Amino acid sequence: MMNRRQFSTMGLITAASLALSRGATAANAKKFHFAVVSDPHVIDEFYHGQESNAEDTESLHQANARLTAARDTINSIPAIEQVFVPGDVFHNYPSPEYDFYFQNKTRIDNAKEIFAGFKAPVHLGFGNHDYDHSRAVSREMSERLFMEKLKTKPYYAVDYKGFRFLHLNNFQGKTWDPSLSASDAKLGFLGEEQLNWAEAQLAERKPTLVFVHYPLRIVAPTEVKDYGLYPMLQKYKENIPLVLTGHVHKWIDEGTKYGPHHIIAAATRYDQNSWMILEADAKQGTVKWLDEDRAEWDTHYAHPYQKA
Ligand SMILES: [Zn+2]
Repeated sequence: MMNRRQFSTMGLITAASLALSRGATAANAKKFHFAVVSDPHVIDEFYHGQESNAEDTESLHQANARLTAARDTINSIPAIEQVFVPGDVFHNYPSPEYDFYFQNKTRIDNAKEIFAGFKAPVHLGFGNHDYDHSRAVSREMSERLFMEKLKTKPYYAVDYKGFRFLHLNNFQGKTWDPSLSASDAKLGFLGEEQLNWAEAQLAERKPTLVFVHYPLRIVAPTEVKDYGLYPMLQKYKENIPLVLTGHVHKWIDEGTKYGPHHIIAAATRYDQNSWMILEADAKQGTVKWLDEDRAEWDTHYAHPYQKA
């Protein structure tokens, strides 16, 4: 008997809407394509963990291969000019010692190697597994390792062809406060410094796509009095065509309840087909998700990409 997964991958994806030709005409010179690859959770030979269920554990053992397979497919699409990763680049820390990461080939090196194999530039963001939940690895050490090995700052902007991409980091501010309440410990915080920086970026009113690891539903709405990410997104929603997050590992459309359209992306960790191709149009200030039909909503899965 055919299971749901086999059945769902039988649907032929024609991807006819993907006019991924290299020769852009003058009219669409400001349009470009980019890919989003979320929650790869790269591991190494030091990973011996048991996750909370068999599927989660199995998915980690497949994580590197699935990211590599996703990369190879994305590399076969010449129109893709940039790649963004909204966090959980690798999965936890095998050692609390900084030197360990320079004496051994770890998941951070494996991530670096796989991402270096993308033809397009890759822009990484931080997820909860890129920090150490047990706090044995400090925030400073995680950020130092990211800088040293992955050339990635805790949060930053990428400007490309009239478009702006913000990689926000929801593990700043109150996140590291030792007196954090149990309910606040479940929330993401940007911290005042990053909020100020984000506001300055948005105030320029360029078309801006916002990446955060945590879905907005678990990001603190406000952090300093009435100042926070929610009111900021409302204030600048005309210039934010999309907010993309990860963490849940399933395709979820949150609609426009936070102001801009908000989509939660599934993870390559569970399915090598779960990544996105988007088209940015700086002139119109819009972003179109071109292969949306591949997503199997509310699941880890996506139909395979097929060339138009
Ligand atoms: Zn994740």
